[in-house]
Amino acid sequence: MAKSDSRLYPLDRIRNIGIIAHIDAGKTTTTERVLFYTGKTYKLGNIDEGTTVTDWMAQEKERGITIVSAAVTSFWTPKAGPFKGIETRVNIIDTPGHVDFTAEVERSLRVLDGGVTVLDAEEGVQSQSETVWRQADKYKVPRICFINKMDKLGADYFATLKSIRVRLVAPAVCYNIPIGKENDFIGVVDLITRKAFIWEADAQGLGKEFKEADVPQNMQADVEKYRAELVEKIAETDDKLIEKFLSGEEISVDDLKKALRAAVIDYKIVPVLAGSSLRNKGVQPLLDAVVEYLPSPLDIGTIEGTNPKTGEKETKKLTVEETFAGLAFKIQVDPHVGKLTYVRIYSGVLKSGTSVSNSTKHDTERIGRILLMHANTREEIQEVYAGEIVAVVGLKSTGTGDTLCDPAAPVVLESISFPDPVISLAIEPATKADQEKLGYALGRLSEEDPTFKIKGDPETGQTIISGMGELHLEILVDRMKREFNVAANVGSPQVAYRETIKEIAKGEGKYIKQSGGRGQYGHCFLRVEPLPRGEGYQFVSEIKGGAIPQEFIPSIQKGVVEKMEMGVMAGYPMVDMKVAVYDGTYHDVDSSDIAFKIASSMALETAAKGANLVLLEPIMKLEVTIPEEFMGDVIGDLSAKRAQIHGSEHHGNSVIINALVPLAEMSGYVTTLRSMTQGRGSVYMEPSHYDEVPQNIADKIVAKAKGEKSES
Ligand code: GDP
Repeated sequence: MAKSDSRLYPLDRIRNIGIIAHIDAGKTTTTERVLFYTGKTYKLGNIDEGTTVTDWMAQEKERGITIVSAAVTSFWTPKAGPFKGIETRVNIIDTPGHVDFTAEVERSLRVLDGGVTVLDAEEGVQSQSETVWRQADKYKVPRICFINKMDKLGADYFATLKSIRVRLVAPAVCYNIPIGKENDFIGVVDLITRKAFIWEADAQGLGKEFKEADVPQNMQADVEKYRAELVEKIAETDDKLIEKFLSGEEISVDDLKKALRAAVIDYKIVPVLAGSSLRNKGVQPLLDAVVEYLPSPLDIGTIEGTNPKTGEKETKKLTVEETFAGLAFKIQVDPHVGKLTYVRIYSGVLKSGTSVSNSTKHDTERIGRILLMHANTREEIQEVYAGEIVAVVGLKSTGTGDTLCDPAAPVVLESISFPDPVISLAIEPATKADQEKLGYALGRLSEEDPTFKIKGDPETGQTIISGMGELHLEILVDRMKREFNVAANVGSPQVAYRETIKEIAKGEGKYIKQSGGRGQYGHCFLRVEPLPRGEGYQFVSEIKGGAIPQEFIPSIQKGVVEKMEMGVMAGYPMVDMKVAVYDGTYHDVDSSDIAFKIASSMALETAAKGANLVLLEPIMKLEVTIPEEFMGDVIGDLSAKRAQIHGSEHHGNSVIINALVPLAEMSGYVTTLRSMTQGRGSVYMEPSHYDEVPQNIADKIVAKAKGEKSES
């Protein structure tokens, strides 16, 4: 099929977008409708029956949530406007709606050029929309907002618009406004062109094709009011237009659209559109807006990286003529073809059968088959060009966030950062036969998901898995059973505590062995200093005058790192501290790497013990939605759980309570809340930060950890 040849799709006709939303806002339904209109799915799926296109994993269907980010290619030809009749390639990068999967969101934001934020017209901006919005800000992703569910009881376009402005602090402006609402929602008015689009509903209230109409009489005043607002906002972003605007001259539709495009790409304006994906209304204008206002790779222009040889900054143009560079942003294990590595091609051409360099890992990879992922088919292609997103089969060592590039023009693009896990549990194969399968399954799953970590506990021989929340681990254990057929016993989830210090202290470590054979000699002094929360760890050498030869410094660092991982208080990893080696001695013959490693780990233990050790625990940001009558009970219960209640908001008959609460107190909270509210409460939780555990509780945790140690 000639369509896949991206030379037919010059860069200005490519859009790499993500549909971003709070869970349940309608991301899946919207994606699915988009894929329907873009001609690649032939039957409309319905999320409630679990047949949508992007939710293809069995489990996602069951849970009705999208876990895995897949990239799908589709094509859209606007029927009017500056892109009229021009087919544009829209690559949709799926983003998950649940924050237990922040890593998935981060990774997709990294490779997309523009986003569509879907909001629920009744709920307005929800807490996770805020989180994802901030993540998108971090990557400077230009956005369009789609206020979905205009057909729903209680839908309120303007209240939602206000919440976008207030809670997201976004420069949001109406681009089209709804005609009617709830059951009477029939279409939208495009403010720039003053045209109404009306979807005629069938017997089930579903829209089919839309027809253009005049603005309904009773909306004309509103249309003029919001149009004037839009025109003013657009004019403010453009020197020439502002002059016209101020002198009262009419600005042409073309000029408005051109300036709006520039303003959206520059993140000065976020256009807001209305619709109902479920009722098939408002999706085509959304697609037009994606093409008209979101950036193409050409608008993005360049990408920055580092030359791995010189360490110098390097800029690549996002064009086909440039040397090849791409970023692997997602690994997915496919039951039919094996491992798929999704790659965003930033520059140049990637051909199947060639060798490229993985500059992140200093490795060479051979490119096997290249697949273009359509909604319900995959198409094998021989080469792929700048601007595209494809899945490559057969890559061996490439992981999420790795750069692939032309070996002759090496570059390392900025990698993707992932948050540390906050919860862990022990897992054991149920039978001997499951042992091998378990190892394989864990390996595969952690390859797909960089926030899912596996660690062997050398003391108990158990395997510890950790992730971003109870749900995250639950889903992974479930996948292991379902997809890999592994029977495993899992322990109860454990909070991932950490240890840190509050004061500066020094410590000495000396390891000397001089009985028989070759002796050992290592001796060093370390100083430990607290770092601000979240800073991790730093190591510096302040050795002057050769008190310890340079060659042993890496071993000293190794000893420090190993000891920090083991912890000195209760066996939890140490974080947020700086370690300096400032003095020591050595022996010409007996000094060795291993002796310095042991000495430094002894020195670290002594120093840390003198530095006012404390335990840190993950604090979760919590949003509980409940009917008002249960407010007293729920707040009382939260207070008993050491929660800091930050306020509550009334939303119709519901109350939303915002709080910060230690993860340790939240085990099984979903069930607790359900029984407390007769099944009517819902909770949304995400990791916020690490904070000190109160002394009396820390004492118990330390005592318990020590008890367990002496038992084993
Ligand atoms: P996601 O979690 O963001 O992917 O949301 P889904 O697409 O799965 O939708 C969540 C729920 O909202 C499902 O029950 C959908 O049928 C429903 N839904 C989606 N779009 C609309 C809409 O436009 N109107 C109404 N009334 N419901 C919708």
